[in-house]
Amino acid sequence: MLKIVIAGIATESCTFSTLPTRLADFNIVHGDDTLFWERYPFLSDYADVEFVGTVVAKAMPGGSVEAAAYDVIKQDMLKLLREKGAFDGVYLDMHGAMNVQGRDDAEGDWYTAIREVVGDDCLISASYDLHGNVSERIMQTLDLMTGYRTAPHVDVIETRLRAVALLIRCLREDIRPKKAFVKIPVALPGEKTSTEWEPGSEIYAQILAKIDGEQVMDATIQIGYVWADEPRMTACAIAIGLDDDAIQEAAIDLAETYWSRRADFEFGVPAMSVTDCIRQAMKDSVSPVLISDSGDNPTAGGVGDVTVFLQESLELKPDNMVYASIPDAIAVEMCIDAGLGASVTLEIGGKLDKKHSQPLSVSGIVQFILDKPHNRQVVMKSDGILIIITEQRTPFHHRQQFVDLNIIPEEQHIIVVKIGYLVPELKAMAKKAYLALSAGAVNQDIVRLPYQRIHRPCYPFDSDMIWTPQVQVF
Ligand SMILES: [Zn+2]
Repeated sequence: MLKIVIAGIATESCTFSTLPTRLADFNIVHGDDTLFWERYPFLSDYADVEFVGTVVAKAMPGGSVEAAAYDVIKQDMLKLLREKGAFDGVYLDMHGAMNVQGRDDAEGDWYTAIREVVGDDCLISASYDLHGNVSERIMQTLDLMTGYRTAPHVDVIETRLRAVALLIRCLREDIRPKKAFVKIPVALPGEKTSTEWEPGSEIYAQILAKIDGEQVMDATIQIGYVWADEPRMTACAIAIGLDDDAIQEAAIDLAETYWSRRADFEFGVPAMSVTDCIRQAMKDSVSPVLISDSGDNPTAGGVGDVTVFLQESLELKPDNMVYASIPDAIAVEMCIDAGLGASVTLEIGGKLDKKHSQPLSVSGIVQFILDKPHNRQVVMKSDGILIIITEQRTPFHHRQQFVDLNIIPEEQHIIVVKIGYLVPELKAMAKKAYLALSAGAVNQDIVRLPYQRIHRPCYPFDSDMIWTPQVQVF
């Protein structure tokens, strides 16, 4: 019986963020927890394989991970790996864009440590987001890797399944494929590279055409994660298979296509300054109009409490707007203490990300209190604006989150969310949508960010650069 061990660590680390990711920010599940196995509903299809769980740790995107936190999780995982071995294969449930304070190539470190325990004969397969940054060490250490093919990501489970299925197939057939790796010196934010519109949709569709199941067993394009100022930050194309020439050709082809379309990637909705977004939405006759406050999007690693958009809204006074959201535990506490219906004046936000804004003085009425465990939330009404304040950094991606706060999204004229491209549920709701090019750690205008350590030349920083693909085979 084949014995496969599962381990993983996943987050997306914005090195421009002022808010480090700490141990408490990780949701850590172990193999003895049913939640661990719920991530992999397909494993029951492999009755002849023994799966062993160690540790899977996930954290919401944020700043770089504190080194001590990373070490604790890594040692916990390695201890279980040593205790429960030996293994035929390892499946790694990853994201691919983690940064650990003071260290580079965090995933490369994770894989190298695992390789030292499981040995060279053991096959290691990883599943990735498509916003991962890949290094030579990663390609060297992994045997197999595959990534999402959709953004917004709607193929999460099938990507995990593909990584496991590839691993099991290689173990059963006793094969060890080669990997062709082509770095593409293009840095583009995820908001421009969605697979819901061209050229992202067209380029990702080409992946399937490259895979024949033998010579080329899998292929991946990584957009990369641009808000990481480290040398490995890049897009790349990867092809895995049994034929050296075929995988090189596939990876080069995908890389060249991506490169040739680099200037064609655009935001999926009109992108404007904060002021222009609010003014335009105020004029729009349809409702609701969704606006992404994109520079401070916590799901891309933004801090989440930048107040610039809210400040502008309070000045322009749109009617019937909901602003989701500002994390501020002190302000939540003060609203709850004041009580429902009370008039309050608060300094909200600007406490975590002091670089991009400052606390904003707001007066209003406490309109609703949600006593949610570990994340109490309040709605404060100031003129025509409903401001959602939360204890924790909280992305608003679902209609129900508004309903829980007694807000019917369809009755609002303007809904502002700290997000980049709209997730499916918000997109379905929006009669119109804009992306605000707002300030924050994940500013979409990446050429303005203070990069110092990325590999140059790189588009769009060096827009007139000439490039020919260099393929590396591992
Ligand atoms: Zn992603």
